[in-house]
Amino acid sequence: MDMRSTFAEVLDETQAYLTLLREDGVKYLALSLEQRSALRVAPTAPAQPRAPAAPASAPRPSTAPATGTSAAAAPQAPSPPPAKPISRPRKSAWSKEAEPVVASTLAEIAAAINQCTKCPLHKTRTNTVVGQGSSSPDIAFIGEGPGAQEDLKGQAFIGPAGEILTRLLTRMGYTRDDIWIGNIVKCRPSVDLEMKKDRPPTSQEMSTCLPYLQAQLAILKPRVIVTLGNVALEGLFGFKGITRHHGKWLRYEGIDTMPTYHPSYLLRKNDKKLFWDVWHDMEQVLKRLGKTPLPPPPSKKH
Ligand code: SF4
Repeated sequence: MDMRSTFAEVLDETQAYLTLLREDGVKYLALSLEQRSALRVAPTAPAQPRAPAAPASAPRPSTAPATGTSAAAAPQAPSPPPAKPISRPRKSAWSKEAEPVVASTLAEIAAAINQCTKCPLHKTRTNTVVGQGSSSPDIAFIGEGPGAQEDLKGQAFIGPAGEILTRLLTRMGYTRDDIWIGNIVKCRPSVDLEMKKDRPPTSQEMSTCLPYLQAQLAILKPRVIVTLGNVALEGLFGFKGITRHHGKWLRYEGIDTMPTYHPSYLLRKNDKKLFWDVWHDMEQVLKRLGKTPLPPPPSKKH
């Protein structure tokens, strides 16, 4: 598979999708608040947690397809030892400001999120977006918060940005069911009650919601976390600077963490170099998981 052509296809498809999205968005904004409420859907039940975790020293079986697609990355022998932590959260105090979430299953956490009114974002949400995917993932991808489409469907990373993420996963040898996808905040941040435009979550909203994600990660026990974009980086670590920090390993709650760009940023910039930057970040992730990334096409030019 030629990744350059793959990304080019994604961009073409995304243009068409964005047109549809705009049309749907206009229809949605024309609805009254009561009509929007009627759109609320029952949250998807999260997968049940796996059986008691194996000892930390034991390698977790890969959930990536071993063969069958040209995009699958071939599992390799033994994972390299975890890297020495390069950096630690500067604002771990955030997590101490909010009450920790006490739960022993993902379903319990989802139930708590669905009833949550701890921050103002609950007033304008159509659905909470709890996060979805494998309950024992190699990788947990963390974004900033739900957008309009995610709010309507109650699912993380759908729409054009989700399509980019799915393509990236395919080249990595994973499906969306193999990994876990979630956000720092579980309800859509919008600039006003009319929900006309998304905005990044505030520091207060992130710190209030973060205990849910921390509780989820404690159960999921991903081998690697990938933060997507500046806001997710700030949400976990308390600092920004994705251009400076992408591609450099961090540690969050003892888990190797790779910051990279948000798929929406790739779409906005439409710069192939950024796509390759993300791929190089994911190559590091695959190597950390003991997998061999696909080689770039011979004609690759940045
Ligand atoms: S964003 Fe998080 S803290 Fe705020 S209402 Fe939603 S679930 Fe609760």
